[in-house]
This record gives sequence, C-alpha cells and structure tokens, in this order.
Amino acid sequence: MTSFLSTPAPMLQLSELADGQNYPTGALYVVATPIGNVADITLRALHVLALVDRIAAEDTRNTSQLLARYGISKPSIAVHEHNEKSAAERVIGHLQNGERIACVSDAGTPGISDPGARLVDAVRDAGLPVIPLPGACALTTALSAAGAWVSGFSFIGFLPTKAKQRATHLRTLANHPMALVFYEAPHRIVETTRALADAFGGERQMLIARELTKLHESLHRCTLAEGPTWLEADANRQRGEFVLVVEGAPEAQQADDAHDALLATLLEELSVKSAARIAATLTGASRNVLYERALKLGKRDEKHDDDSEAQAE
Ligand code: SAM
Repeated sequence: MTSFLSTPAPMLQLSELADGQNYPTGALYVVATPIGNVADITLRALHVLALVDRIAAEDTRNTSQLLARYGISKPSIAVHEHNEKSAAERVIGHLQNGERIACVSDAGTPGISDPGARLVDAVRDAGLPVIPLPGACALTTALSAAGAWVSGFSFIGFLPTKAKQRATHLRTLANHPMALVFYEAPHRIVETTRALADAFGGERQMLIARELTKLHESLHRCTLAEGPTWLEADANRQRGEFVLVVEGAPEAQQADDAHDALLATLLEELSVKSAARIAATLTGASRNVLYERALKLGKRDEKHDDDSEAQAE
C-alpha cells in the first residue's frame, strides 16, 4: 500500500496504523483538510488521499496545490455549489467502477458551510458507502477554546448578507437557549457584530476567533456591546477569517418568551384576566406579571376582553 511518510519510527508506526484499517473500494471518503496551518492534517487523511483513485474537490487548483505540499498528485473532479448534482453523477459512475474517491473542500471539513453534503446524499442514495475522516474545522476549533460559558451550541454559519434579512433571521434566534456559532467574512465583520448586539442586547458574552491556526491568530472574548468597538479600534482586527461564538439567551428571557407564547394562545379564547390566571396556574409564575405581559401582547380590545380595567388579584 502507498506510504506517504519516510519519517522517524514513531510516525512510521502511526502511518502503519492508518494503513491497517479497511478502506473499501467503491466508497466516497469525506476528508477534512487544514483551515490555515498546512500541518493540521491527520495521518489517516494523508494515507487516504494517497490511496484514492480520484479527488472530488471544491476547487481543483487549490486542492492540487495543497496536495503538492504533501507530495500527492491525483486526478480530480470539480464538485462545487453550482455543479454538485451533475458532478455527483460522474463521481457515482467512477465509484460503481470500483474506484475510491476522496471528497475535499477548500478548507476544513466538507459539508460545513462548504460543498459536499449533496454529494454525500447522492452517493448514499446510490447505495454506496460514505466514510468520514475527521479533522480541522473552524467551528470546532473556535469552540474548543471558547470556555465553559458554552455548553450546548447551534451552528448557524453565514448570516444573510442583506441587513433586513439578517435582522429578521437574528430575531428568530434571539431566545435560543444555546450558544450560537457564526461564520463571517472580514468585510462584514463589524456590521454583523453590530447586528448581533442590536438583536440580542449588549450583555451576552461573545468570542471573536480570527485567523485560527494561522500566523495572526487571535481570540478575543468580550460582550456583544463591546465587539464592534473592539474591532473598529484597529483595522488589523478586521482582517482575515472569523468565527463568532455568542452566548445563548439568558433563562429569564427564555421564560418570558415561553409565557408570551402560552398567553397568546390563551388570549385567542379568553379574557386577559382569565388567560393570566390559567397561565399562572400552569407555569407557577406571578399572576400580576403575566397579566401585565398579556396586556402588552395587545389583546386588550379583543371581544373576549371584558375586564381591561381590572387588575389581576
Ligand atoms: N468547511 C470549513 C470548516 O470546516 O470550517 C468552513 C468553510 S466556509 C466557506 C469558510 C468560513 O469558515 C470563513 O469565512 C470563516 O468564517 C470560517 N473559517 C475558515 N477558516 C477559518 C480560520 N482559519 N479562522 C477563522 N475562521 C475560519
């Protein structure tokens, strides 16, 4: 079997371990590549890239240049967001002829804000195996250095670029209880951090992870209110690639949201006073507080509301 390393003994033993696994033919190998530092590639990824017959790459030129750094050269097929369906048919044709094919994106893990997922679907739908090889990913790299304020998280990736759509999307995330992870480009980083503060308020924690694994890597933790100011204080802080990790909604905000949803449903049939009383029984929250929230929901004038001037007990 092809070996890619002619290096010291421990490394050689590890490469033999990579070699020792079964690598079936007719399978698609989804291989993570570095997100900056060319050394961040696994031995098994190198083993598989050296082993496969062909590489399905987001950008064949970029991938050839990367593989040249490892002394690997392979025929390639371009699989990018504009041709993923037709390219998948070609890939499946080669797999059915018994080839092994690696799928790689320009950086990091394929399918994570990158092409690859539709190819995976098509290959699996064709009844052929898909074999993932773990490795670099900007999302997990940033999260690994975020800290204990991030327990669970949801990956959002890139937000819409138009301000109105971005604000609408962020509104839907405002009460999400888990940390949110965003990807962002340098020319939008300031306006995106501003939009985050507008949508979620200024108090939550944020990690601005820039140029991970690269020469100018920086990780800065601050509040959402501080984020745009910190970025604008030095133009260098706005350069490069970014991951933003934002703390989830505080519990009080989540409870208010759940109460409003319950009250809105109850108010479809009941007066403000009755809705507040039933919501208080169901949730254990203060009846007066719920009464005030119900009034704010703007249902005071509905036909069932015959007690708009009355106060809850
Ligand atoms: N598939 C990749 C992964 O596994 O993370 C992501 C590809 S996506 C097209 C590119 C975005 O990922 C960048 O705009 C940036 O938000 C983020 N990213 C990629 N490399 C990064 C790095 N070295 N540091 C910070 N963010 C990075």
